[in-house]
Amino acid sequence: QAKQRRAEHWIRYSRDMDADALERLTLEGDLRKALRSGAELELLMQPIVAMDSGRMTGAEALLRWHHPERGTLPPEEFVPMAETSGLIIPLGNWVLASAGRQLAEWRAQGLDDLRLAVNVSAVQIMHPEFERTVRGVIEANGVAPDRLVLELTESVMLDSSGHTLERMRSLHALGVRFALDDFGTGYASLNGLKQLPVSIVKIDRSFVHSMEENAADREVIGAVVRLAAALDIATVAEGVETPEQYSLIRATGCAFAQGFHIDPPMPAARFTRMAAGRDAPAAVVNG
Ligand code: C2E
Ligand code: MG
Ligand code: MG
Ligand code: MG
Repeated sequence: QAKQRRAEHWIRYSRDMDADALERLTLEGDLRKALRSGAELELLMQPIVAMDSGRMTGAEALLRWHHPERGTLPPEEFVPMAETSGLIIPLGNWVLASAGRQLAEWRAQGLDDLRLAVNVSAVQIMHPEFERTVRGVIEANGVAPDRLVLELTESVMLDSSGHTLERMRSLHALGVRFALDDFGTGYASLNGLKQLPVSIVKIDRSFVHSMEENAADREVIGAVVRLAAALDIATVAEGVETPEQYSLIRATGCAFAQGFHIDPPMPAARFTRMAAGRDAPAAVVNG
């Protein structure tokens, strides 16, 4: 009996594995197709504001895939597959090219003070063509390099030796800004930051959430903000969801914020209209 149950369990288990593998392959094929047309991919824009004035300083580009059968997929559902399959290179190139076009459009509309932050996977920046691709995007669109921010996670610090670091330094010398994403969740130390040409640290939303109940976390964020400032690094708080979080974060001296309390990620056209009007979001002004 027990043996049979085990056997059945095993069969079900291996069938699920097959289903998973098959699904991954299907999704991979679908992404290949989507990359050929580009029509199913979209970059949403989430405003980043200066905390003192509430004024929008730019946006983070967040990738969405409007899959014809599965509906809109968030990056978690296909970026890991793209990283293991190698599709992250063409996908990342699509993201960079779209970001370049967006910056050119803003520039044409006189919105050339806006910065656009793009998420870059560690696999992408380790690719030998990465630097050339970024330079190409900047040149093709005639945009100021310092309007482009490349967001990297702390995992790049593990491989910040050799080529990756060289590539970052060279792009930094061109004017491109680097931001360290999800700070506090990984291995990065502020000391390690000194070695990298990083201009911005994004404080992970888990800290922003815990600081409301936890005074020690508030102290930690304050210390991060002060140390970053000493290194000439700006700080952005991620995932600000409530007015309470907004004022607590502001009190730490953190200069920039992003989150649902300010605005959710939105279609680019809507972001551009808001930026052109440049009304500070009501929630921030009143909050
Ligand atoms: P991330 O770079 O840390 O982006 C912030 C994530 O937090 C976004 O999720 C955003 O929608 C979400 N968010 C913003 N405000 C709030 C808030 O107030 N509360 C909460 N709970 N969440 C908030 P999203 O768009 O699902 O992206 C998830 C991750 O996927 C990103 O995390 C980034 O690591 C990755 N990603 C997004 N776009 C790209 C891309 O173009 N290329 C690559 N390689 N990765 C991307
Ligand atoms: Mg990011
Ligand atoms: Mg983040
Ligand atoms: Mg994240």
